[in-house]
Amino acid sequence: MVANPVSGDEATRDLGNGVLMPVLGLGVWQMSRGTETEQAVEWALEAGYRHIDTATAYKNEQSVGAAIARSGIAREELFVTTKWLPITRRPTVELARSLERLGLDYVDLYLIHWPFPARSNRAWLELASLREQGRARAIGVSNYGTERLTKLIGQGGPAAAVDQVQFNPFHFRERLLRFCAQQRVVLEAYSPLDRGRGLDHPTIVDIARRVERTSAQVMLRWAVQHGAVVIPKSIRQDRIRSNAEIFDFTLGAEDMRALDGLDRTSRTGKAR
Ligand code: NDP
Repeated sequence: MVANPVSGDEATRDLGNGVLMPVLGLGVWQMSRGTETEQAVEWALEAGYRHIDTATAYKNEQSVGAAIARSGIAREELFVTTKWLPITRRPTVELARSLERLGLDYVDLYLIHWPFPARSNRAWLELASLREQGRARAIGVSNYGTERLTKLIGQGGPAAAVDQVQFNPFHFRERLLRFCAQQRVVLEAYSPLDRGRGLDHPTIVDIARRVERTSAQVMLRWAVQHGAVVIPKSIRQDRIRSNAEIFDFTLGAEDMRALDGLDRTSRTGKAR
């Protein structure tokens, strides 16, 4: 086992109630269940990751659970997220099934995967009760823009601890980022590498060359410096390792501005 690169002041975000969320996690969307997911999670845990992001919809919770069980790492050292898709049964039923597949007694974070207004608003109170019961240590949402987050807050009930949204230099949701900071909601960046598409962009390649890092590390570091949690996905051991090496360098203000400038959402109206 290598030394844990994922440590230090920047390495966790406080979700309240004593819950610390590691700023780096492994995303497992589009990993096939079985060996592919198990191997990736095993490599991630070996490389020092302590946070895994899965979902019922990814159909690989069982493989995540198998790798966790084999690792022998104490449950309290791990941070496991799964998500409720609002087209399925009630969250209480679905979380019980997820926990069974994961082989866990609780998840650290349970998210509403996608806003389906009518059901997700009622579901939110059910998630709150799952948190009260200790079956989810924290609860949050995903794919919520400022308007939906505002509605959720206006509805009463507990605040969302996390909003997991697409966030990378090409999807720099500045307004949402500011809103989350004001409301003390942690913004969690999914597709932080723009699904691998942004890595060859000349601006990113140029910065990476100058700071002697990979393009992926530059994209992840940009998100971390904006206060986001990042969950890059990879099935390759070398990439899983190098994607974790983002806490030992800093991007300067000029490079941050250049990366901010790659945003496409402000032009398409998706910046909410
Ligand atoms: P990412 O932005 O993490 O990119 C993943 C892609 O980049 C894969 O093709 C991977 O290939 C490649 N890659 C990873 N590391 C490197 C590297 N160092 N160099 C070059 N290529 C690399 O995309 P995702 O969309 O998967 O997002 C990450 C996670 O976010 C998901 O796995 C999921 O957990 C979550 N998510 C949540 C959503 C939601 O609705 N809540 C929606 C989408 C994602 P390879 O595997 O071959 O290395």
